[in-house]
Parts: sequence; structure tokens; C-alpha cells
Amino acid sequence: MRTVLIAIALSMLLSVGCNKDDDSNNVVNSGPEHYIGNTQSHVFHRSNCSYLPNAENRITLNSCDEATSQNYTPCGHCNPCQ
Ligand SMILES: [Zn+2]
Repeated sequence: MRTVLIAIALSMLLSVGCNKDDDSNNVVNSGPEHYIGNTQSHVFHRSNCSYLPNAENRITLNSCDEATSQNYTPCGHCNPCQ
């Protein structure tokens, strides 16, 4: 009986741990370069810029071309198109 409970508890811990790992990987490993647009000011940034907009105002842009074609302006601090 105890062994079963321990096994269940362990599997729950493991699955929670996996989910956390996935989430942090998504944040840290942004993969190929992409840009973050501010839907309010229509300025876009490199994903590591310190002037990124609040989460609710962010849009992901996959390239400089995509951003400018949607009338987004490059940020003057991180110069995303250079
Ligand atoms: Zn920026």
C-alpha cells in the first residue's frame, strides 16, 4: 500500500517538474531570433531588450520584415533590424 502511494506521489512530482521545465525552456530558449512588438506604441524590440512592453501588450514578430510590414517601428535602444 505504501509503495503504491509513494509511486503515485512520485509520478505527480515528476509530471509537475516536467511542466515547469517546459515552461522555463520556452522563456529562456526563445529559439530562432524573433522580435517583440508593442501593440500600443507599435514599436518592436529584440527579445532581450530591457524596454520590452508589458506582457498584455506584446505580439511576437518573426522577422524585421514582418514587423515593418505591419507598421511597427524599430526600437531605438536595441535596434532590432541591425
Ligand atoms: Zn528595444
